[in-house]
Amino acid sequence: MQKQEILQTYFGYSDFRPGQELLIDSILSGRDVLGIMPTGAGKSICYQVPALMLPGITVVISPLISLMKDQVQALNQAGIHAAYINSSLTEGQIQKAMEYAMGGRYKIIYVAPERLETWDFICFAQRARISMVAVDEAHCISQWGQDFRPSYLKIVSFIKRLNARPVIGAFTATATGQVKEDIIAVLGLRTPQLLISGFDRQNLYFGVETPKNKLSYVIQYIESHVGDSGIVYCATRKNVEKVHEALLARGIPAARYHAGLSAQERSENQEDFIYDRKPVIVATNAFGMGIDKSNVRFVLHFNMPQSMENYYQEAGRAGRDGAESECIMLFSGQDVAVNRYLLDNKAPNEELEPEENELVRERDSQRLQSMVNYAGSTSCLRKYILEYFGEYGMQRCENCSVCRGEYEEQDCTQEARQIVTCILELRQRFGINVVAGTLHGDRRSKLLELGADRCPTYGALQNLSEDRIKLIIRELEQREYLEATLDKYAILKVCGKAQGLLDGSDTVILRWARESENAAAKPRKTRKSDVLNHRGLELFEALKKQRLELAREAGVPPYMVFSDKTLIEMCIYLPFDRAEMLKISGVGERKYDRYGEAFLTAVREFTQGRKEKTYFGELGTAQAVIELAGARPSEKSVGRRGRGRANR
Ligand code: ADP
Repeated sequence: MQKQEILQTYFGYSDFRPGQELLIDSILSGRDVLGIMPTGAGKSICYQVPALMLPGITVVISPLISLMKDQVQALNQAGIHAAYINSSLTEGQIQKAMEYAMGGRYKIIYVAPERLETWDFICFAQRARISMVAVDEAHCISQWGQDFRPSYLKIVSFIKRLNARPVIGAFTATATGQVKEDIIAVLGLRTPQLLISGFDRQNLYFGVETPKNKLSYVIQYIESHVGDSGIVYCATRKNVEKVHEALLARGIPAARYHAGLSAQERSENQEDFIYDRKPVIVATNAFGMGIDKSNVRFVLHFNMPQSMENYYQEAGRAGRDGAESECIMLFSGQDVAVNRYLLDNKAPNEELEPEENELVRERDSQRLQSMVNYAGSTSCLRKYILEYFGEYGMQRCENCSVCRGEYEEQDCTQEARQIVTCILELRQRFGINVVAGTLHGDRRSKLLELGADRCPTYGALQNLSEDRIKLIIRELEQREYLEATLDKYAILKVCGKAQGLLDGSDTVILRWARESENAAAKPRKTRKSDVLNHRGLELFEALKKQRLELAREAGVPPYMVFSDKTLIEMCIYLPFDRAEMLKISGVGERKYDRYGEAFLTAVREFTQGRKEKTYFGELGTAQAVIELAGARPSEKSVGRRGRGRANR
């Protein structure tokens, strides 16, 4: 089978996404590849498709057991035989899996890096024909990355032990320049085909909110998104418990997840979420790596994470199916203090030298600062994210809380000048608390001891809250009028650029989040399911019910049967026979054989066999509907059915 046919037959997609084809062709021609693509961009297909075409076996190295299980289950659903080998299996099961692989039954096997140095596996690999080694989450090999895993270094010696060097593919969603170089050097990639695909996730809305009461924000948000699946991330176990309890008290079915729970409870709770038994999960960042649930409609951050890498990875778990989803971070000044404390008390990595650990600490601190700047950013949040990951050119996205005008503008030039003056008066020896307290005219004993009350600027900004003064200071840091030292004291210094403030040549216009407790309930960008009208949504619910039943029978999570996006397309196109069903994105032949009939029947029954009925709202042209549904502009979208029906 050719790659196009494989994509259609097994995965049900008619076109490759940008970049996928380039990597697949390179692998097939024997050239190593490095694919840096954001979560949800479709990395797996880049190695799964060639794996089916290469003569031998593909070994996929993946850091987490849950990830492997998920991927193998999804492949099996698509009609591809695959297996995983890790410590969750008995020795007997492992032997059997290797035997089957030798016998040609599995083209793809997933293994944990630790397995690569076991004698059995090496013997197997030397006897079998290994065509490709695909390294998932490849950034784990870099000491400079956030998730360095020493076991990843074993990949290198494993490959050296093979009789013939297979083609190597490395894939990751997070790689800054240094990490990218590391992956290439450590894995020994040979003139790899590099693909850095756009980091933008257009279907995600990004928001930063500073509600007075975070808990009521979260409750209100979830209550106005009933039925949607979502994750609430918290920084600490204690917060997980607090939020989880509050949700239960409101009758919201929610699961919880953190490292303090037993392994069994963690896995049960995770499954409740994945199998849509509980739509919401409240979790620490221990949750999520390797979770492939595609219909997560929102990710709320109750606390600010430690870095943009963490944030984008966690937020990126929303909307993997491409349907509109929301990522909202709730910010308070306390988040900064907690994160600083956590970093200061982080245990050093024993595998690194002291000076290397010092370097890691410095980088952690810089990462935290970038995160704080994101939280306080008054220009497009998406632009900020993309620039952080090295992509320039975006101006305004119109789909984040800043662009959507949930802010008001204010001239803060006077305040900025007072801040700079105050820092100079304090001889650039103190951090944000002392500076803000002085300007506010605070009578804390520490300030009085320092003699802060003798500064001419003491109390100069007494009309503002200390929090507001701190936000202006953060903004001035971001605009490079000020900088904070990187040690734990974070002493504020005045940069050369601040002269412009002192001599009156610069103005500082800031935009503040409008303080609205109702922000949680505010409708944002049109969501894909919004293209459906009342009847359409009923059909969508009926199809979801059908999906849940089939998933239960098959013992797989519902999204593995079909994604939300696929179901929404069914509601728009109303497929009545096999050929029409196969045109729906996400319906491949193998899945059709398994589930297609059941959905055809459901659609037929609901519509009573009448196709003329419209199930989507008054959104103007067919094209608008199609675009919202995220269908590609192929014959599927501009074809007869789409255009005809929307005009009615
Ligand atoms: P990643 O590993 O990059 O986070 P996945 O490989 O899990 O992303 O893919 C994310 C989603 O996109 C999956 O639901 C996958 O089936 C879907 N997908 C991948 N390639 C395509 C494609 N060419 N057309 C449509 N959907 C695709």
